Amino acid sequence: PAHNDEKNLPLLAREVTAVFQERYGYDFELVLVNDGSTDGTWNVIQALARQDARVKGIDFSRNFGKELAITAGLHAASGDACVIMDADLQHPPKHIPEFIEKWERGAEVVIGVRQSNKSAGLFKRAASWVYAHLMIIISDEQFVPRATDFRLIDRTVVNEFKKFPERVRITRNLIDWLGFKRDFVYFTADRRAEGYATYSVIALIRLALTSFTHHSLFPL
Ligand code: UDP
Ligand code: MG
Repeated sequence: PAHNDEKNLPLLAREVTAVFQERYGYDFELVLVNDGSTDGTWNVIQALARQDARVKGIDFSRNFGKELAITAGLHAASGDACVIMDADLQHPPKHIPEFIEKWERGAEVVIGVRQSNKSAGLFKRAASWVYAHLMIIISDEQFVPRATDFRLIDRTVVNEFKKFPERVRITRNLIDWLGFKRDFVYFTADRRAEGYATYSVIALIRLALTSFTHHSLFPL
């Protein structure tokens, strides 16, 4: 998912390509979804796709939010496994090999757990603490604190995920809901490479409310 990440995408493409060049016999494709950016993100995606046929671009008609951008990416992806990652390098591509190793050992969902978030301020960290603890208390599913969208999911899981009709959705909670064999990779979120986080406080509160009401009967 990329929203106003024009400066980060070339770097992301380079790092992902390097990971696969160094270590693997695997083919890969890089699916980049422009989520209604107001900067040159779509131009950059098109340029990257021209340079490298392994880059696929999707251009949204407006800003739909990260959750739907990830969804579109998963629908377009064709791999035996998909790794979901932010466009701003806060989900460092150097960890991809660890995800793949756990997948090779049989995990069908490999979840990136953030150890610390260097870039988040006190407010954001306090808010995610409150959110996580509320979710642990009220969620109908097993909630893992600091679990992120940075995750690998096996093709079987992608195919099940694609059946969800929800338009208002929290991708990672839906993936958790599906079950399957899980494993974890621990990583540190670096600062955003370029630009600013674009989710407003209101948008984050709205996301939290979505996950309270969609994954628990408690509010009802
Ligand atoms: N993003 C998106 N649509 C949005 C907002 C963000 O696709 O409306 C993407 C963004 O480009 C990035 C990821 O979602 O790849 C995480 O967003 P951001 O870095 O703004 O937030 P953070 O979670 O790091 O605070
Ligand atoms: Mg970010």
